[in-house]
Amino acid sequence: MKAIVVKPPKPGVEVRDLTQVIRHGSGTVKVRILENGICGTDREIVRGELTTARPPEGRDWLVLGHEALGIVEDSSDPRFKPGDLVMPINRRSYHGKCLNCLVGRPDFCEANEFVEAGIIGMDGFMVEYWYDDPKYLVKVPKNIADIAVMAQPLSDLEKSVEEILNVQRRLIWTCDDGTYNCRRSIVFGTGSTGILISLLLRTIGFEVYVANRRDPLESEAKITEEAGIIYYNYSKDGLDKLKSMGFDLVVDTTGASASLIGHEIEMLKPNGILGLFGFPAEGELTLRYDVIQRFIYKSNAIVGLINGQKPHFQQALAHLAQWKSIWPTVANSLITRVVDVNDDKELMQVLNRKEKGEIKVKIKWS
Ligand SMILES: [Zn+2]
Repeated sequence: MKAIVVKPPKPGVEVRDLTQVIRHGSGTVKVRILENGICGTDREIVRGELTTARPPEGRDWLVLGHEALGIVEDSSDPRFKPGDLVMPINRRSYHGKCLNCLVGRPDFCEANEFVEAGIIGMDGFMVEYWYDDPKYLVKVPKNIADIAVMAQPLSDLEKSVEEILNVQRRLIWTCDDGTYNCRRSIVFGTGSTGILISLLLRTIGFEVYVANRRDPLESEAKITEEAGIIYYNYSKDGLDKLKSMGFDLVVDTTGASASLIGHEIEMLKPNGILGLFGFPAEGELTLRYDVIQRFIYKSNAIVGLINGQKPHFQQALAHLAQWKSIWPTVANSLITRVVDVNDDKELMQVLNRKEKGEIKVKIKWS
């Protein structure tokens, strides 16, 4: 059984023929892999940079991959039948005792009890087939199969937007027509995370700016134009202009320097909220007393955003179906490259580095 295997924390990746059967939880549903998405986390593991990555207990290797679309081959669970398209949930808690784990929300685990497929202590889904637990499978509508692999990264952002709106329930944040149409947001970063959360905020009515340090690539220009998102080049037009405009919501997806966060805080309007999604890779943040005074005076908030759960996968699939209908160019632009799993050279290339203009690369298995 073919699998893409890593040995964290050591760098490297290999295609291996596994003799061992992969089984998660009850293992009552046999899933054959159709496609995997690749993201920055996979590449950090391949390069040996993700220090939290570890194999399941008792061995030194781990099947990579947390973004997957599969097809049910066999099932003893009545909710799934052969031929169903399914997507596995990546963060799970099999033995978690904290209340959040017990109610199916290990994204809020308080005791570090969870595992993450292809990342922390649990095999991922870059493998020909595996036996899975119906609790952690979501059915995928067949008419969005071509872009469905986006639902895993999108699920994290569905949860992020839900969390932002939940924090903002501390006040009346909707407009005088009951929508979010009067709210202005800006998303820093135009990777797949930045693009997806921008689309999501547009979908629920926000005015959306998306910011990067360069002009938009062709794919980004097409997406932002169709969805009515304003692209902002802050190396050209500066951060000060954004501070004087003011934003109700700022989202950082860059994973760039921590110092950018200081600028983002200064862009917040009264009651505005800053959501942090990208992990800064360097730098430090120093806030002057007067910036902190203004933050308090304006009742601002900062919230950390991570990991969607099963309800968010379901919302993500519904939004992908919606976008396919209202924004066909957007839907057609999300997958920027498809790689055949049997093409070793190309496979190693995409597992090792991001390419220019990439939104989502997927590996095709059949
Ligand atoms: Zn827990």
